[in-house]
Amino acid sequence: MQLYNKLSAKERAALIEEAGKDRLTISFYKYAHIGNPQILRDHLFLTWNDLDVLGRIYVATEGINAQLSVPAENFKTFKKHLDSISFLKGVRLNIAIEQDNMSFLKLKVKVRNKIVADGLNDKTFDVTNKGLHVKAEEFNELIEDPNTILVDMRNHYESEIGHFKNAITPDVDTFRDSLDIIEENLAEHKETKKLVMYCTGGIRCEKASAYYKHKGFKNVYQLEGGIIEYTRQVRDKNLENKFLGKNFVFDHRRGERISEDVIAQCHQCGAPCDTHTNCANEACHLLFIQCEECKTKMDNCCSDHCKEVNALPFEEQKKLRKGKKASNKIFKKGRSEVLKFKR
Ligand SMILES: [Zn+2]
Ligand SMILES: [Zn+2]
Repeated sequence: MQLYNKLSAKERAALIEEAGKDRLTISFYKYAHIGNPQILRDHLFLTWNDLDVLGRIYVATEGINAQLSVPAENFKTFKKHLDSISFLKGVRLNIAIEQDNMSFLKLKVKVRNKIVADGLNDKTFDVTNKGLHVKAEEFNELIEDPNTILVDMRNHYESEIGHFKNAITPDVDTFRDSLDIIEENLAEHKETKKLVMYCTGGIRCEKASAYYKHKGFKNVYQLEGGIIEYTRQVRDKNLENKFLGKNFVFDHRRGERISEDVIAQCHQCGAPCDTHTNCANEACHLLFIQCEECKTKMDNCCSDHCKEVNALPFEEQKKLRKGKKASNKIFKKGRSEVLKFKR
């Protein structure tokens, strides 16, 4: 019995290429009480590996969080299997708009302490006592209500390239930071205003809405399924789209375009641009926004220094990195002194 994926990423990529099968990129999550995450983990791996599922799945005592791709021809069997697991029966699947056969290269199912690293260790609140779910249509109405405060629960580099109009977009690096900032800023509105929140796929709001209710907010709403599901409903039902720009996603695409508006700018020259990239210098890897012109001029780098380093032979670069922490493993979230046009 093979419980772990033995193929390297390269071998996997070659296999997918060969097969030429169309894959569906799917994500879902569910907060639930899971007695033995390891048993669930093994069960999922064995079943999904047979179905040629690829992706990254976290299982914890608090639930499951999955991002994966399934060969289109196996989707029905996959869905049937999900429905056979009691707490996942009928779970909403977010299916990506732009399909991409290379989103994931391996199947990784991991047991974690939490399904989202949220930095929240307050065990006194009930995570199942969450805000009211609203669908796209109701959300569109709610956010026009003058009595509504609309909050983006994502981080600065996500909301920078796209957000709902009139949303508060906290300038934060982490989910934990945004919780405190929002609570502080909105303290006087706890009883009077409607607090409406959204995130990428809805999972952050599941916890945040429970947290704010716990902190005394009386009217808490959350966009069901996040921006991903909102966009699907807007297209399906021909609703007005109130999301501007791109939805930041965590795979290699970095962003899915939702509206034609470009609301961000190149961090190097200030020209309108909403394309994220990582600095080509392996030792830097900074995430930032760079236009085509700057990309050419800077050889895909974030600074003159990185450009110089990146131009050195690989062995030289390795020498320079010796003794330093492997910073290319750190996801540097778009903040650096060298970026003149980072707001
Ligand atoms: Zn530029
Ligand atoms: Zn750099």
